[in-house]
Parts: sequence; C-alpha cells; structure tokens
Amino acid sequence: MPIASINPFDNRVIRTFEELTPDAIERALARAQSTFETWRTTSFVERAGVLTKVAAMLRQRTPQLAAMLTTEMGKLIAESKGEIALAADIFDYYAVHASRFLADKPLASSHGKAFVRHSPLGVILGVEPWNFPFYQVARFAAPNIMIGNTVLIKHASNVPQCAIAIEDIFREVGAPGGLYTNLLISGAHISAMLDDPRVKGAALTGSEDAGASLAAAAGKNLKKSVLELGGSDAFIVLDDADIDQAVHWAFIGRMNNTGQCCVASKRFVVLEAVADEFTAKLIARMSNLKVGNPLDGATQLGPLSSEAAVDHLDKQVQRAVKAGAKVRLGGHRITHEGAFYEATVLTDLPPGSPSSSEELFGPVAVIYRVADEAAAIALANDSPFGLGGSVFSQNIARATRVADQLDTGMVFINHPTWTAPELPFGGVKRSGYGRELSALGIEEFVNKKLIRISELTDPM
Ligand code: NAP
Repeated sequence: MPIASINPFDNRVIRTFEELTPDAIERALARAQSTFETWRTTSFVERAGVLTKVAAMLRQRTPQLAAMLTTEMGKLIAESKGEIALAADIFDYYAVHASRFLADKPLASSHGKAFVRHSPLGVILGVEPWNFPFYQVARFAAPNIMIGNTVLIKHASNVPQCAIAIEDIFREVGAPGGLYTNLLISGAHISAMLDDPRVKGAALTGSEDAGASLAAAAGKNLKKSVLELGGSDAFIVLDDADIDQAVHWAFIGRMNNTGQCCVASKRFVVLEAVADEFTAKLIARMSNLKVGNPLDGATQLGPLSSEAAVDHLDKQVQRAVKAGAKVRLGGHRITHEGAFYEATVLTDLPPGSPSSSEELFGPVAVIYRVADEAAAIALANDSPFGLGGSVFSQNIARATRVADQLDTGMVFINHPTWTAPELPFGGVKRSGYGRELSALGIEEFVNKKLIRISELTDPM
C-alpha cells in the first residue's frame, strides 16, 4: 500500500511519500540503539523535561495539528482538538508519575534485603493505527521514554503527515536524535525488524491479522509483544436504566470518531421491557445528522477514513441484512463525493450469525432485544472480542454484578467504554493482551530486575 495522505472528504490526494530504503531503516535502528546507550542513564527529571515540552508544543499547535488530522483521516474537527489535548495529557501524566511507578519495590524476604528495580530494555517498536494518530502514539511512546527505552514508530500508511508532525515536535523540543523515530514503512517490514537483535519488543494497535503477524514474529524471536486489537463492545441496557441517559451515551459511544473506535459501543443489548423505547429514541437521535466537511464545526456526520473503509462497512451491512437484520435507519453509502456512510440502525440480527461476530467500524448501531439480565450477559459474552463494554442501570450493585460477569478487559457503568491517562486500557480474547496507560501501561517493556543483598557474615 503506498504511503499517502488522502482527504476522505473529497478523496483528493494531498501528498504521497516514499518508503524508507533498507539503508535508511538500518540507520534509524543504529541511531535508536546508540541513543538508548545514553538515554538509559538519564534521570527521570531529564526524561520528564522532554515529555513536558512535547505536551506543551502539542497544545500550542493544536489548531494546525487538528486541521491536519481532520483532512488526513476525516475526524470531526472538535474531536481532533480533543484528541490532541488527550495526547498532551498522556505525555504530562507519565512525566509526573513515572518516577513513582518505577521506584524500587522493596520485597518482604526472610533472606536478606531484596527489591525489584525497573530497568529499561532497549529499542521498542510501536505499530500504530490511523483512527487516533496522536493519542495512540502518546500512550505507547510516553511510558517507554520515561522507562529509558527508545522508540521506533511505524504509523499507519494513511496518516503520514500526523506521523511526521509528532517526530518534528520531538526534534524541535530538543529530544536527542534517535529517542523517537518515525519510520515511513509498510507493515511488510515489521517481521524483519523483529528479527533484528537491537529491537527488544513491540506493541501493535490494529487489526487481528496485523496483530497475529507481529506476535508470530515476536514469538519466533522470543521477544515480548503487546497487542491492542479490535472490539465489539456490548452496551447493555437493563430494565431499570435511565433510558434518556442511556440513549445520550449510546449516541456518543457509537458515533464518536464516526464509529471508528476499537471501544465504540457496537452491540446494544437491551432488555425487552425497555427495548421499544430505547430503539425509538436512538433512531431519533441518529436521524437527520448534518453531513458535511469535518473541518466545519457545524458538521455532525463526517466521512469515514477512506473509500476502502466505506466499501468494507457497506459489505458488512449488506451481509447482516442477508442474515436477517432489519434496517431501521440508513443502511447505505451517502451520495456525496468522499467516503460517507449513513448513520445506520439495525435490529433483529440473529445472535450467533457470522455477521453478529464482525466488528462494524463505522456509524452502524446493532440493537439486540433480550429477555433478562442473564440473557444480556450471555449475548454480550458471545463474541470473539473482549475489549470493553457498558452496563446501564440505576442500581449500581446490580450493574456491578453484571460487569463482573463480562469477559472483557474494561467495563464502564452508565458510560460507554472510554479512556483517560490514569485508566488501564486493553482487552482479552481476540482483542489482544497487555495494557497501555495508567501504572500498568508502564510495566510492559521494563526489566523487573530482582536485586538481593546478603549480609556479610564471617564464613568461619
Ligand atoms: P491495521 O490494518 O491492522 O493497521 C494498524 C497498523 O498495523 C498500521 O500501522 C498498519 O500499517 C500495520 N500493519 C498492517 N499489517 C501489518 C502486518 N502484517 N504486520 C505489521 N503491521 C501491520 O488496522 P486498521 O484496520 O487500520 O485499524 C483498525 C483496527 O484497529 C480495528 O480493528 C480497531 O478496533 C483496532 N484498534 C484497536 C485499538 C485498541 O486499543 N485495542 C485502538 C484503535 C484501533 P499500514 O497502514 O501500512 O498497513
């Protein structure tokens, strides 16, 4: 796939980029390795100084960066600004808290003094997706840089301008060359990079296929990987939920980033007693959205990220209809130049059909009716994915009991699955393994080294 910026609003090519040559990749690796040798000895204060400046520059440049993000992948401009603010917060979060997270951990031992020291591993590779080009990079790069690792980023091929802009910021704030390196390469190079002994581990956020390919290469080389893959979050509405609140959050959970979030609310599992009301109100909320240029603050429904994304989503909707789903709203491409798809609501998709297991990456809500709480839990768990999920109920003890039975990495009560620097993010099942963000996210690519000190005794 060529590395190109294409505006999905009108499908015009903004800029194309040449892939790095094998020699250039080798130079990048060598520089990341040699910078690691000095970066590993820097203090937390010095590392935090770099990240704090990166955060400040992200905030200062938000208008330009947000416009670039929106023209490169179609996100509504207000959401682009929000994403850049969140990325800045993540850099600040690790700058402030990493020294505490990585402090020596004393161990209670009857065999002398012992503690765990957190040491860096080396060059870590991050493979990132296009749907949150700034946020995804921040949650990988910030903890690794605070650990003392250096990072190589292979960003998605359709967001090269965002990828370059982040590297530029590191350079401009005075970070040492090789601390943060953007690699303009396709996914085809990743396996070979994992064969290189200088690369000590890799994290990938993206599809199951890409994750499996990276994990296989990491496994073959006995290296650690972290995978943040797809999801099909259930949004359970119990019969004692506040339905207006649930509809408000269902709309946001499904439509944020035009539905292109791993943790978007994708399957609405609603108890029979409230299903008609919830369905009618969600259809009303998703109707008559203002379609237009995502750079225009008044636009409510922008394009998907690419033509390929719209084609893929349309095929999935048509397959679901063949499997028995009823289209209650939308269900087609929008006749507008660019990668637009109607806000869509489907009902009556038979649970267990192949379509019900697919991840719908766009503005398509699927509503399932279930008889009771137990059926809601069973349906929510009937998915190959296990990323996030939501439970709506005014009875928090009941909602917590349901949350406890969901096979996912995250559950939010009375809110769609969401993210914040201090909350661990990650899944189980085919949604991947490992965690990013919070104190847990900084523990993935670190050597938790045991140091034990024996008391000197007289051998005689
Ligand atoms: P994708 O095709 O897997 O792309 C993600 C990244 O992987 C890109 O940089 C891509 O490079 C690279 N890649 C593709 N094939 C590869 C391979 N064989 N080896 C190594 N790298 C490879 O994913 P997408 O479809 O663009 O992104 C959407 C998916 O990401 C959805 O499933 C979504 O749920 C998931 N996602 C998950 C999270 C999470 O935290 N769990 C967050 C966001 C998104 P190219 O662009 O060059 O192909």
